[in-house]
This record gives sequence, C-alpha cells and structure tokens, in this order.
Amino acid sequence: MILILTPDVDLASDEYRQLINYLDNLPGIQHRVHHVQGAEQRLTEVYLIGGTAALSRDYMASLPCVERVVRISESYRVLGRHKDDDRPSHFDYNGIRFGQDTLHVFAGLCAVDLPEHVEMMMRALQENGQICTRMGAYKPRTSPYSFQGHGKACLPNVFELAGKYGIKIIAMEVTHESHVDEIHEALEQTGNPTGVMLQIGTRNTQNFELLKSVGRQQTYPVLFKRGFGITLDESLNAAEYLASEGNRNVVFALRGMKTNMADPHRNFVDFAHIPVVKRLTRMPVCIDPSHSVGGRFQGPDGLMDMMHVTAQGVIAGANMILVDFHPVPDKALVDGPQAMLLSELPFFLEDVRIAREAYLQRTALAARFLAEEAA
Ligand code: PEP
Ligand code: MN
Repeated sequence: MILILTPDVDLASDEYRQLINYLDNLPGIQHRVHHVQGAEQRLTEVYLIGGTAALSRDYMASLPCVERVVRISESYRVLGRHKDDDRPSHFDYNGIRFGQDTLHVFAGLCAVDLPEHVEMMMRALQENGQICTRMGAYKPRTSPYSFQGHGKACLPNVFELAGKYGIKIIAMEVTHESHVDEIHEALEQTGNPTGVMLQIGTRNTQNFELLKSVGRQQTYPVLFKRGFGITLDESLNAAEYLASEGNRNVVFALRGMKTNMADPHRNFVDFAHIPVVKRLTRMPVCIDPSHSVGGRFQGPDGLMDMMHVTAQGVIAGANMILVDFHPVPDKALVDGPQAMLLSELPFFLEDVRIAREAYLQRTALAARFLAEEAA
C-alpha cells in the first residue's frame, strides 16, 4: 500500500509526526518514506510493507497528511503501474522530460576513443538539432584483453565538448559504484556543462550491489538495460532495486536477447515488449537497435535492419532510442561494425520522425475508437 501525502507536507509538523507515530505502531507492517522533488513541489509517499491487506483504505486515507491511498500488487512496488494508480510517471532532468509519452534520441559513440571523434560526433548532433548523446567511458568487454574504455581520464574532455555543442544529457555506462563518483567529480571540475544518465548494462542487470548503490543517489537518472538471458519479470524486479533504494528516475531499455535463433542479428530483437513494460510499469521505455541487430545489414528496400527495428519500436511507442554512430567506424575501438555514419544521421532522424508521427496517429485512432465504444 502507498500513502500519497499532501504535496510539500511539512516533515516537522504535528500532523506528520502523528501519522508516522501511528505507522510505527502498526503491528507486522514496516514503512519506508520516499521524497520526490519535482519542478514545482515535493511529493512524499509512504510505502507500507507487510500485512497491509487487513488495512482499510478509507481509514488510511483519513489519517493526517494523507491525500490518497493506492493499493499495490506484490510486483514492482515503486516502479509498477497499479490499479487506480494515477501517480505522475514523468521525471525531468537537466531541462528534459522523460515519460511514457515522450521520445528522445541518444545517438553517439559506443565507446569514447579519440577526442577528434568525440568532437565530430557532438558537432554532427548539434547540426541535427540533437541535445542528447551516448558516450561509453567504462566498457564491459567479453575479453579482458580488449579495450576497456578510457575511464575517468576522458571524462573532462567529453563533458567540455558536450557543453560546447549544447548537449544536455550523455548516457554513460557505469560498471562499478566508484564510476558514479568519478563522473560526479569530473562534472564538478568542468563546471557542470552537461548532464549524465547512468547506464546499467545488460551484463550488470542483476548486479544487485551495483543497483543498490546507484539507486541510493538521486542526482542522476538511470538507463537500465534488460538482462539478455533472463525473463522480463526478472529484469523488471532488478530495476525495482534502483527504486527501492530511492531512485525512481529510471528508463528501461530493450536491447535484444542472446540466442543463436537471432542469426544473423547479434541478438533477438525484443521490441514487442514495449507495450508490456508500459502496461506493467510507469517507466519510459528505451530501445537499442545497435546492440540488438549488431550490424549494418541492409534490406532490398534501401533501409538498414537497424532502421527497420528502430521504426518498429517507435511505432509501438518507444520513448528513447540509444543508437551507435561513429565518424570513422573502421577506427572505432568498440562495435565499429554496427555504427552508423554521421552522414546517415539526418536519414535516421527523419525515419524516426515518420515512425513517431505514425505512432501518434495510431494513439489518436485508439482514443477515437474507445470514445465511440463508450458512447
Ligand atoms: C552499450 O550500450 O554500450 C552496451 C554495452 O550495451 P549492452 O549492455 O546492452 O550490451
Ligand atoms: Mn557497444
């Protein structure tokens, strides 16, 4: 059960103390308080865990400071979409809104290599009206002998270039909790010219200690990738670790499943799960066509498979696209074969725009149909 308190509730007030005192004395029930600082107000929610079935919803709603009561199912308590649950499902970061109705493209380098390549990428993004990117500094690699990313050494330059070219958010994978501190320090050192969305990669989906530590900070939102060899339910529960520790600004990414049934694609594209994740949770859903398809295969119609699956994801309501580009893919140190060229960026973006337009037409159609049915 979630008690949603009146906005900007005064934590020092007698009413709040009375409420907490009452909850402290409920037998067999623990409570956990979450604060969400929005642009205009601070929301406070109290999660009750334990034998809540016996509690009367009306009585709980009558307690001091309580505005609303939501009964939640067992799964995905914080991130889940529950019955009669009209809690807001957006978050804002660095002036950009993320929700199940928005769409943002994060095109960029799989891995930071040369500063010239970073600058060429950022410049192309700005020329194409883009304000988000992806840049990998810490790369989890299959072989310990492969390039592991430049790590913290490249961060100041990447952040400064992002600021120079008007980039507001960089999606950047972290594989260890110390990376969050390194990113934070480099941002401070360079005067916070940009923002960072911390990416949890598919190999770390169930690294619960990493999830708990990333979940304990609320400075940076999180891009959480589903595990490539576990069920959707297991991945959603893993994402919930972030939220249970306090960070609910989470975007859930689909990036394909590992199986040789996907051949010749690198992974089996799983974008059919977009509406499923939206139905089960309130998280915005990201798609990663690069790591799903994993190559520059082209159809006889002139469109690359990566563009086809992107369009399929967008037309099904995806909210974010994480996609690899590189100015000189032959020189890329990681995943060059799946990178698109800078000259292909306007082509890609226009294709996304067409698919998004079609999605919006489809939701308008659904709204008309449902209104007629109800009439
Ligand atoms: C990546 O986005 O660079 C990456 C390594 O993706 P994944 O964790 O999905 O393999
Ligand atoms: Mn990659």
